[in-house]
Amino acid sequence: MTLAEFPDDWQSALCVVAHPDDLEYGTAAAVAGWTASGKSVSYLLATRGEAGIDGMPPEEAAPARAQEERDGAAEVGVDRVDFLDFTDGVVEYGLPLRKAIATHIRRVRPELLVTATFEEFFPGGFVNQADHRAVGLAALDAVADAGNRWIFRELLDEGLEPWAGIRYVAIAASTQPTHFIDVTATFEAGVASLEAHHLYNEGLGPDFPPPRELLNQILGMEHLRDYGEKVWAAQVIDRR
Ligand SMILES: [Zn+2]
Repeated sequence: MTLAEFPDDWQSALCVVAHPDDLEYGTAAAVAGWTASGKSVSYLLATRGEAGIDGMPPEEAAPARAQEERDGAAEVGVDRVDFLDFTDGVVEYGLPLRKAIATHIRRVRPELLVTATFEEFFPGGFVNQADHRAVGLAALDAVADAGNRWIFRELLDEGLEPWAGIRYVAIAASTQPTHFIDVTATFEAGVASLEAHHLYNEGLGPDFPPPRELLNQILGMEHLRDYGEKVWAAQVIDRR
């Protein structure tokens, strides 16, 4: 496996995932580097992760987890976090999801869209959760939808002109990464952003590895060691 340096010729990024904490399992360390170098990054979450804490009912968990996401985002220099308010755990791939993401893309007009893998399995062999698969694939499709004025035509009536300016789509946690970023320098910010999810981490119980240990595993994988001590890798689709 030979990875190329992640492209740098873009100024604004939108990260689209299903739940609070999805970006904090590694991607936030890359985000920290981007914001530190003056790029603008915002987050879009399909849900508020309200089904993610076994001991807390969704109506309590939704605002708590949304706040933890904002706190985690702030740790890596991101001050805009939006939520689409699909229902956690039962997000379906389909036109409503594609349209919601495409609408947001037209509003914020990013040059880079980051999402996470929609494969059935993660690189380590773990099963990828259903919402992740729905949102990752819908985000990829919404990139095209956002750029085509004849898809979701009603958006034109809302003044949302097509945005075809996304130059790159990056898919984190892909089994087929193409590009890398050495995130050794921003590793601690990445840890802080996952640690910001206090209630969620607590809810995982004492047997679950703590944030630093988890991120050491995720960003310190043996096969990426040639590229740095801590490495974030993604599959990049070049749309230029
Ligand atoms: Zn998730």
